[in-house]
Amino acid sequence: MSQTVRTRFAPSPTGHLHIGNARTAILNWIIARHAGGQFILRVEDTDQERSTQESEASILKDLQWLGLDWDEGPDTGGNAGPYRQSERMDLYKSHLDQLIESEKVYPCYCTAEELEERRSEQLAKGEATQYNGHCRNLSYVDKQKYEAEGREPAFRFKADTESVTFEDLIRGAVTVPGDQLGDFIIARAGGMPMYNFACVIDDHLMEITQVVRGDDHVSNTPRQILIYQAFGWTPPQFAHIPMILGPDRQRLSKRHGATSVDQYREQGYLSDALVNFLSLLSWSSESGDEILTRERLISEFNFSRLSKSAAVFDTEKLDWMNGMYIRNLDVAELSRLLFPILKDRGYSIDSAKELEPITGLIQEKIERLSDANEKVAVFFKEDVNLNDPEARDVLSLSTSKQVFQSFLDVTDELSELNRETFMPLMKAVQQSSGIKGKELWMPVRVALTGQLHGPDLAGTVEWFGLEKCRKRVTQALEFSK
Ligand code: GLU
Repeated sequence: MSQTVRTRFAPSPTGHLHIGNARTAILNWIIARHAGGQFILRVEDTDQERSTQESEASILKDLQWLGLDWDEGPDTGGNAGPYRQSERMDLYKSHLDQLIESEKVYPCYCTAEELEERRSEQLAKGEATQYNGHCRNLSYVDKQKYEAEGREPAFRFKADTESVTFEDLIRGAVTVPGDQLGDFIIARAGGMPMYNFACVIDDHLMEITQVVRGDDHVSNTPRQILIYQAFGWTPPQFAHIPMILGPDRQRLSKRHGATSVDQYREQGYLSDALVNFLSLLSWSSESGDEILTRERLISEFNFSRLSKSAAVFDTEKLDWMNGMYIRNLDVAELSRLLFPILKDRGYSIDSAKELEPITGLIQEKIERLSDANEKVAVFFKEDVNLNDPEARDVLSLSTSKQVFQSFLDVTDELSELNRETFMPLMKAVQQSSGIKGKELWMPVRVALTGQLHGPDLAGTVEWFGLEKCRKRVTQALEFSK
């Protein structure tokens, strides 16, 4: 009988959702959806000092914004809950007791200072720095003595093994010699479980079939496998995805720019584009296509196409991709996305609907939603600035004055100026002034917008209306004299 695929994303709520972790979440989601399985969200909040409810809330919000729906999680519940590690303490305790009982784990009374001192000695002698087994075989009397000193033990796992080998779905066979592991702590003094221990208990009880995570965890996996073996459990399959690098091929970090999902949202990236882009940092479609809808990402996923090498985060490519997604939106949808951003910027606009004509004019010209802030400025300015040196050059051409005069003559009789009437109008201006081509169009554009380049002029004119256009051309005529 084939097992239902169950993947999970297990963030520690100690900050915002990092772009690398978002990629891990996206991959796990895709794998589960591809297999018709389940995607589970588990909050790993055993680090009480660094975990906060705000971080958890912001991570959940970002995952939702990315459009990753989970089948089980702290907010949705599920049969394998609770899904917050801080609420699973009794499970860790009972499983720790089992390992103590079967002598796979022993209490360790060494203090941090003692461990540090021993480490320095080992380093000085050029020895490996694993735990030296000091508390492995303490007698009952020794333990009593330490307890009487008020020492509270941590719990160490006996790493008795020649080597651990596992078949990584990305890296192939990975073997780690046992002497590199050393007896490791699985629960702190006071019983708080360490990551490796809680993770194994949870992945097992939540029936996770594939653990897909960043390769910064690859050194944890042999230790986790030993814990599975100690319980007689079959480990899940593992896949460690290579890290994300900045353009300088160093690990992606704050100095490369934005690193968290909320920053990308604020900068105006679309979640569809970000999901597409981040998926392709680890994986490629056999078709070679790069613009892939969620449906295609899910249907075309294949473990064999996961990349073994680290991916470079290429912001230019993300911008390009985001621009493609923006162009694919219908104008009404894009207006809905732009409206709050522009409103926030102080543009006087009352509804997304009202924005639609402008949206249509800038849609081709923005790569990020925030680019609109600058692009729409021209539509809202009361007056144009004709003092830009390039604008002045155009206005001071002798032909420009003629164009403006003709424009005013021809529009004198006009009752309405819109997209449709604009071309015939310009034809008439051409005929009456005898000026055509660049020398006709450039001064009109500069007079109306103060810029040499910009959005489609017919649409722009329609937005301004006849009166404003005539006013601006009159100003430009004055200016050109
Ligand atoms: N809480 C761990 C992290 O955020 C999870 C690692 C794992 O996926 O096992 O790095």
